[in-house]
Amino acid sequence: MAYSYEAPVSQSLFDRASVVTPGGVNSPVRAFRAVGGTPRFMVSGTGPYLTDADGREYVDLVCSWGPMILGHSHPEVIAAVQEAVSRGTSFGTPGEGEVALAEEIVARIEPVEQVRLVSSGTEATMSAIRLARGFTGRAKVVKFAGCYHGHVDALLAAAGSGVATFGLPDTPGVTGATAGDTVVLPYNDLDAVRAAFAAHPGEIACVITEASPGNMGVVPPADGFNAGLKELCAANGALYISDEVMTGFRTSKAGWYGVDGVRPDLMTFGKVMGGGFPAAAFGGRGDVMAHLAPAGPVYQAGTLSGNPVATAAGLAQLRLLDGAAYAKIDAVSAELRSLVGDALGKEGVAHTVSAASNMFSVFFTDQPVRDYEDAKKQDVFRFTAFFHSMLEQGVYLPPSAFESWFVSTAHDERAVERIAAALPAAARAASEATA
Ligand code: PLP
Repeated sequence: MAYSYEAPVSQSLFDRASVVTPGGVNSPVRAFRAVGGTPRFMVSGTGPYLTDADGREYVDLVCSWGPMILGHSHPEVIAAVQEAVSRGTSFGTPGEGEVALAEEIVARIEPVEQVRLVSSGTEATMSAIRLARGFTGRAKVVKFAGCYHGHVDALLAAAGSGVATFGLPDTPGVTGATAGDTVVLPYNDLDAVRAAFAAHPGEIACVITEASPGNMGVVPPADGFNAGLKELCAANGALYISDEVMTGFRTSKAGWYGVDGVRPDLMTFGKVMGGGFPAAAFGGRGDVMAHLAPAGPVYQAGTLSGNPVATAAGLAQLRLLDGAAYAKIDAVSAELRSLVGDALGKEGVAHTVSAASNMFSVFFTDQPVRDYEDAKKQDVFRFTAFFHSMLEQGVYLPPSAFESWFVSTAHDERAVERIAAALPAAARAASEATA
């Protein structure tokens, strides 16, 4: 595909980066390999906008893959960060900020009786699984195809996100021994979960699922799916782990738990709770969390866990996320979904706008998408054309057909108008695209 626009400064930065960093990026999906073209090197962000190194402004529908739920450079978050930085950047001791952040999480999410702070969503899921294995004395972990839980070795089997984007079946470097205890099942299929428990009696430590998946595109749980998982886990002595790294503090004040009310044994968080800094967490039942060192025998630690700057940013962001903020995000999301659907409909492009609360994505197929196999059947080449047209017109979408789009409280009328103005040409490009 040829691109009619250029990004010379980004291109020269990417050339430099590619010499010193594998693929030129520090996280694979950023490299634009699924869509082609030059990844944009961003230099600043304000509200719903990003500005790249060539001086072009974009309406941002990635929001740093979820964290920037108040938009970029929110003055109160920036002020909290500046205040924290002025007192020092890391002490390696306990501090009040981490207590306050833990209290905020526990207050918002009723099943979380205790929480441990870490630095990334990957660490959160890795630690939750270790804890589940330590607590139950069992080895096996059930996960679902298309769900991404970070790059934890045992969880990369049939993962979503970058693994889905690049069509990787698995990844070299994960040994058979590590992956051997992972049972991968189709999403939204309770019969498959029942069969797995029957095939491995007394061996399954936990079932981990994205509370509502966003890493194969947005594929919400079918009615009763999460409740069924919880029931099957309880009946078989396994823990139900709900990964809310993406949905947590985004899909409602209490994340996806606030939407479906199914009570997990353990939960994982990241993204929004860090306010744009590396802060994440796992938490849940007090009797399970009591098994963590130093209270219990399951080891888990981190030099920068509960970092004072990251916790200050996260706390400032969470405190601004009240009912009005979620109402605003939900409304913007609904408006965009309808604009995108209308534009694609007008051009006769087969599509499904799939939403879970305010998270949404577009599948370029008119068939229902209930799992990863369905998601893969879409016309990805149409997404590619759509993506580049939007980019050219100053709208920054996730550079993959298998990712959620994110909005923020900063997405105001002007930002929505800019997106609306770009959609007709993008829909036409999708309609004219060929495989
Ligand atoms: N879990 C889910 C549901 C995610 O979406 C992600 C990242 O996108 C992770 C875990 C991993 O988080 P991190 O990238 O912070 O390691």
